[in-house]
Amino acid sequence: MTIEQDLHSRSESKCELCGMDTHLDVVEVPPVALVRVENCILACATCRNQIDASDTMEIDHWRCLNDSMWNPNPAVQVMAWRLLKQLEGEGWAQSALDMMYLDEETQVWAASGIEEETESDSKDSNGATLNAGDSVTLIKDLEVKGAGFTAKRGTMVKNISLTDNPKHIEGRVNGTRIVLLTAFLKRA
Ligand SMILES: [Zn+2]
Repeated sequence: MTIEQDLHSRSESKCELCGMDTHLDVVEVPPVALVRVENCILACATCRNQIDASDTMEIDHWRCLNDSMWNPNPAVQVMAWRLLKQLEGEGWAQSALDMMYLDEETQVWAASGIEEETESDSKDSNGATLNAGDSVTLIKDLEVKGAGFTAKRGTMVKNISLTDNPKHIEGRVNGTRIVLLTAFLKRA
């Protein structure tokens, strides 16, 4: 059997993160030295697009992680843990991380690849410090994968929240809460 066939049988042909059964494909969970079924997951296009494009995430889509974090396969646990870490500014994601149990080996795998941040302050594209409650404007068009719209350059995002990752803030665009990379923002 191929890895893809193995994954289809492991997941009963459903996205291992959100449960959708369409547009499924194999995603490697890095670091991958040798591609094996144990370090891959099956994910739908909506999930894959947001995993690849880390400049935006549609926060509500990822509530699916509340279920998929309990998946018995370490590759799915690692992917869920990393995504939850990116959403840590959300109370529900923080609670999920608190509840999540990873065995030691899986924890090491999950944490590898998360860069150690030397700076703890969030800074906009000009190096100005960002604080919770600030307003920012986007300095480029950002496609919000999964939500099906583009946040246009010049859009103001009011009342931002900070996350544990200084390169990410959260805010509401078009009524949808999303994670934004500070590199694409300027303080308003
Ligand atoms: Zn999915």
